[in-house]
Amino acid sequence: MTDVFGDLVGQDEAVAMLRRAAASAAAQLRAPVTATAGGHDDLDALADEYDGDPGPAPADPGAGMTHAWIFTGPPGSGRSVAARAFAAALECVHGTGCGSCPGCHTTLTGTHADVRLVVPEGLSIGVNEMRALVLRAASAPSGGRWQLVIIEDADRLTEAAGNALLKAIEEPPPRTVFLLCAPSTHPDDISVTIRSRCRVVPLRQPPPAAVAEVLVRRDGIAPDVAEWAAAAAQGHVGRARRLARDPEARQRRDAVLAVPRRLTGVGAAFDAASALIEAAEAEAAASVVEIDEAERTALQTALGAGGTGRGAAGAMRGAAGQLKDLEKRQKSRATRAQRDALDRALVDLAGFYRDALIMALRAPVAPVHTDTASLASAGAQKWDAEGSLRRLEAVLECRAAIEANVKPRIAVEAMMLALWRG
Ligand SMILES: [Zn+2]
Repeated sequence: MTDVFGDLVGQDEAVAMLRRAAASAAAQLRAPVTATAGGHDDLDALADEYDGDPGPAPADPGAGMTHAWIFTGPPGSGRSVAARAFAAALECVHGTGCGSCPGCHTTLTGTHADVRLVVPEGLSIGVNEMRALVLRAASAPSGGRWQLVIIEDADRLTEAAGNALLKAIEEPPPRTVFLLCAPSTHPDDISVTIRSRCRVVPLRQPPPAAVAEVLVRRDGIAPDVAEWAAAAAQGHVGRARRLARDPEARQRRDAVLAVPRRLTGVGAAFDAASALIEAAEAEAAASVVEIDEAERTALQTALGAGGTGRGAAGAMRGAAGQLKDLEKRQKSRATRAQRDALDRALVDLAGFYRDALIMALRAPVAPVHTDTASLASAGAQKWDAEGSLRRLEAVLECRAAIEANVKPRIAVEAMMLALWRG
């Protein structure tokens, strides 16, 4: 029997923590404020405790419930899956996250009236979006349980948006709970003041065996394919599923893993850089084209076509502004999709040089890419551990440079040259 936490692969400790919190939250709904005054189960008492003391959050991730949470972990560890599962458990009519009641079901399908999900599409979440969200989240829950705000990629909050959120977390409405997702609690990812008011749920990179198991059990993928995909995806559940199911995703990965063989000179290095960038652009364009078109059509329909009456000129000016806003949002989403696609390619490439390194060191560790293991082994002989490590570092430096806003083409060209020179 699986409940809402069933999809959290290899996260037993986090799941135990969330189950305790959900039980505590349910108890709180049954016996409000007065019964638990002074206890950790009481949101108001907890908020009072924090007042004037922006110190660290409680070190003990105990049994209680609190009003702000951060789910951290590497990409693919299931941060947003965990946040949604916890949200479902809080809205569950049984208070457990049974997985089959209306509360669980509507939360998981994204239709629960009291659950708001922010999925940033651009490179950052803006202040207007956050203010509107905070305002709506302050109302009493219509379902009588909790108002929940889930923020995916909270590391992409702008500073102003972060401040708007902080204000809400500092003075939380009694029934509102914030669930943030971020790669880590490093100040680059989440401001120290926000972090200090949240309880952290650390997720780990699930082991390949656990990922393979879930692909077989839930997605009906053949065990040998599941094992290969889980290893190749390096613990990223969503990526593993795509590799196992989508032939185009496999082709793109093959093209990336062909890079080390193609680097035979300066010209070839630049060609490889162009190919990698263009592949990422094509993948990103394919991923956003449908939604872009649907949004444009919806907006045009909403605005109506033409109009001749009094005020039509003013309406047209407003329409032009809205179209411009939409184009801006879409452009920002396309950029983000390109960076994500490029980053996936770089992670695959890093996996190849990591394989060469562990082979050069004769480390008793399984390779990431079993299908290019012989090529990595040839690389290990040619480059030795030191040369393999330098190449791995070149790929990781490229990721870091793009993260720090270096133009992707420039960063990738520098990486290809470094890989070729060794
Ligand atoms: Zn339920």
